[in-house]
Amino acid sequence: MKELVMATNNAHKLEEVRQILGSAFTVKGLSDIGCMEDIPETADTIEGNALQKARYVHEHYGVDCFADDTGLEVDALNGAPGVYTARFGSMNGYGESHDADANIRCLLDKLEGAATRAARFRTVIALVQGDKEMLFEGIVEGTILRQRVGNEGFGYDPVFAPLEADGMAFAQMSAEAKNAISHRGRATKKLAEYLCNKQ
Ligand code: IMP
Repeated sequence: MKELVMATNNAHKLEEVRQILGSAFTVKGLSDIGCMEDIPETADTIEGNALQKARYVHEHYGVDCFADDTGLEVDALNGAPGVYTARFGSMNGYGESHDADANIRCLLDKLEGAATRAARFRTVIALVQGDKEMLFEGIVEGTILRQRVGNEGFGYDPVFAPLEADGMAFAQMSAEAKNAISHRGRATKKLAEYLCNKQ
């Protein structure tokens, strides 16, 4: 069985990726390889951050590794918050970095009176395998709702309604239904296709 490390400690993400990659791969998280430090994420693009994380683990731990980075791109905000999605609230005076509630409050305030609420989630997965680097992208188009709905998922899920889900927010969908159409699900499927065809 082929072993890969995903540069995350997020149990949610590991589970999602393991489901999609299936039994042909063992996917370890950072704690499984003893990586406890904060990995730098200082690039100014989603692609750059994903590569930075995967390269760091590959270089410091000598393992094949992939890392993901996700941004929410809102048309009325000229593509912001993009690479700053996790810090959107704190950068604008709302709560702490990575605080989902503050991020959503900030987003809803900024979209007050906006002409369009169109947005997309974009995930890039960077794979560093031996001396080879690959990028896989997944996108889901949607709309930012005016108020939160649903209790599933995480992050911006209560206010993001994918176009393919008839007005339902990600936070109203089961994990399986979300994975089938989500940005990360789509990027992960591309990674899986690549890995399965290659091995
Ligand atoms: P990360 O790159 O996965 O750390 O995500 C960056 C930001 O996007 C964080 O604020 C996450 O909460 C948010 N985010 C990533 N994926 C999702 C998702 O599937 N639903 C809602 N928010 C997400």
